[in-house]
Amino acid sequence: MTTAFPKATIVGYPRIGRRRELKKAVEAYWAGRTSAAELEATAAQLRTDTYARLATLGLEAGNYSIPASFSLYDQVLDTAVTFGAVSERFKDLYDADGSLGLDAYFTLARGDKERQPLEMTKWFDTNYHYLVPEIGPDTAFSLANDWILRDVAEAAEAGFAVRPTLIGPVTFLLLSKAADEAPAGFDPLSRLDDLLPLYVELLGRLAEAGVDWVQLEEPALVADQAIAETELAAAVERAYAALTAGADRPSILVTTQYGSLGSLLPVLAGTGIDALHIDVFKGAVPVPAELANLGATVLVAGVVDGHNIWKADLGAAAYKVAELEAGVQTLAVATSTSLQHVPHDVEDEQQLDAQLRSWLAFADQKVAEVVTLSRAIGHPGAIDADIAAADEVLASRAGAPGVNRTEVRERAAALTPSDFARGDYADRQAAQEGALNLPALPTTTIGSFPQTAEVRSARARANRGDLTAEQYEQLMKDEIKRVIDLQEELGFDVLVHGEPERNDMVQYFAENLDGFDVTVHGWVQSYGSRCTRPSILWGDVSRPAPITVPWAEYAQSLTGKPVKGMLTGPVTILAWSFVRDDLPLGDTANQVALTLRDEVSDLEAAGIKVIQVDEPALRELLPLRKEDQAEYLEWSVNSFRLSTASAAPSTQIHTHLCYSEFGAIIDAIDGLDADVTSIEAARSRMEVVHDLEAHGFKRGVGPGVYDIHSPRVPAEQEVVELLEKAVQHVPARQLWVNPDCGLKTRGYAETEESLRNLVNAAVAVRAQLGASVS
Ligand code: GLN
Ligand code: ZN
Repeated sequence: MTTAFPKATIVGYPRIGRRRELKKAVEAYWAGRTSAAELEATAAQLRTDTYARLATLGLEAGNYSIPASFSLYDQVLDTAVTFGAVSERFKDLYDADGSLGLDAYFTLARGDKERQPLEMTKWFDTNYHYLVPEIGPDTAFSLANDWILRDVAEAAEAGFAVRPTLIGPVTFLLLSKAADEAPAGFDPLSRLDDLLPLYVELLGRLAEAGVDWVQLEEPALVADQAIAETELAAAVERAYAALTAGADRPSILVTTQYGSLGSLLPVLAGTGIDALHIDVFKGAVPVPAELANLGATVLVAGVVDGHNIWKADLGAAAYKVAELEAGVQTLAVATSTSLQHVPHDVEDEQQLDAQLRSWLAFADQKVAEVVTLSRAIGHPGAIDADIAAADEVLASRAGAPGVNRTEVRERAAALTPSDFARGDYADRQAAQEGALNLPALPTTTIGSFPQTAEVRSARARANRGDLTAEQYEQLMKDEIKRVIDLQEELGFDVLVHGEPERNDMVQYFAENLDGFDVTVHGWVQSYGSRCTRPSILWGDVSRPAPITVPWAEYAQSLTGKPVKGMLTGPVTILAWSFVRDDLPLGDTANQVALTLRDEVSDLEAAGIKVIQVDEPALRELLPLRKEDQAEYLEWSVNSFRLSTASAAPSTQIHTHLCYSEFGAIIDAIDGLDADVTSIEAARSRMEVVHDLEAHGFKRGVGPGVYDIHSPRVPAEQEVVELLEKAVQHVPARQLWVNPDCGLKTRGYAETEESLRNLVNAAVAVRAQLGASVS
């Protein structure tokens, strides 16, 4: 018996729990406070609660419309563990019976005393991070874990026929990297034919367990890949020919979220899979000719945005549904992506302004939208009343106070090219040397110092009203003084105030700017148990009052050394917020940039000589297709320039970027025109200096010499060696000495020791360079 594909479905649902129950449960387990059985019990409860919730929202319990998209840590890791795709360095994690269990799973994710965890990297153009599987020529794939079967049985017992989900074979290998033991040039995709039989075997076992539909996710097919498109097409054909050939298998849904398949659409459509999900929210709506290969394959149209939080334009979505319906035999509707990128439920945010709340759709509301749209399939007109209601929401947004503000629009419209440009770098450099009088290889940090329990508790108490504003301010000032004193004692050249007053580098600005709101329970998973709470950027942006100036001024009053003013850049503010969909992103970026530009001026007026504008997320929003990248880089770089270009030549502008794969966007980074750029480099052993050298980077640069992602203290000699390597490739007069990133998540003990070694190493290398630097 096989069930027809349901008319309405979603690609995935948040796993973390409405109150972050999963985060709490896994962290308690890691800390040894609970047993594996307790963790499993909480996870099982979360899964069945999710199914029940989805059924209440209108997905049917018995027809595979509910995906089993749960993960204890990460969906890519789940697939790696399912197929035993682990490299030599993790071989000992197998149990005697050849399985990889719970602790093996978490060791891959988090490492242990002897080894680094799997590398973590960005999942497409989202702020979710997945673990990168390591595959070598001899990685022995096997069915090493059967959680997927357990989930199916567990769901059946609770009365739900759920659709198991796995990363599809092509995407899985494209996202993997060569294991240490692999020869140079090894490509994990070369193992496709060895992996496919395991998928076939697992599909067989799922069929045996009575599963009618399975979901294989192939989002890598919407992004440009290093291999040629024809090769990719061949891999897709081979993979799905093998998977569909098995006689005893569930029907296969392939999902392709985050963009358009482009030329791979007809290829995938022609493979004989049973259903194909395409993203028609972010991606284009294909014309009938592109869909001709589908035949009897169900087209699952991802019309409801899974990645942002606005109520859908149901009229526009229904139009797409009707257009697609004309070109296919069977149509279903879905979200464009998994809902793992949005919070659970708008109803949890009663503190938000009622009008703003009426514009929003979080995961639960989006499920309902999909269900509504599914009623329009075959029955145009059936949802006319819903479309009218959605139109009213759109009209209410468009006309609401604060959404479109004349003074903000006029200021942005009046910008001219000179607003985006600072003067000549040589002049700036001379003015800054005079103003700052820094030694060679100046030392600094990236901004935050450890956020102690006392600092966090002070903020919580102030939020609850248990501290007066004056008491809170005093506690923050005490912390700033301690951070300044420590840096003086350690011998830093350019100091920071430590950012104790900031809960989060984006939310802090969002709370202080007009046009934004923040949520209470709006957490989304960033990686593993880590969540972020993106702010909601809903209107035109302006700055009612200076934000960072009093803190910076206070910090500067404590020392004769320069203290950096600390701002979060426009692109990062957008990347880590839910952004409005009714204005081009570049326009919104300029609005944010103008508020920062005013902040820069106010900091200068308060006597701040060095200002850092962080853009750690610059690379995150980079489009997945090369053809779209130039446009993005143009507006993003321009918005940064707009935020900083009004600074006096003598004001030194720093920026900070949080990644080491620097080469690909080095032109853009150069285009930021910052006087000093700090970047991550410690983990990659200073490899970035080659990119800097090849590019001929001319301004100040601080490749990180201390990996702050780990509690490990780098020895002075180790830092000396990194700096010695750096000066071979970057002229010493351009070089700065700093950690990889902010110190917020570190403890004081290891931080102090590491920073001491960092400063001492700078002093030592400075002495070696002697008079050769001026
Ligand atoms: N200034 C910020 C900090 O130090 C930068 C953080 C980041 O790069 N993500 O915390
Ligand atoms: Zn950083």
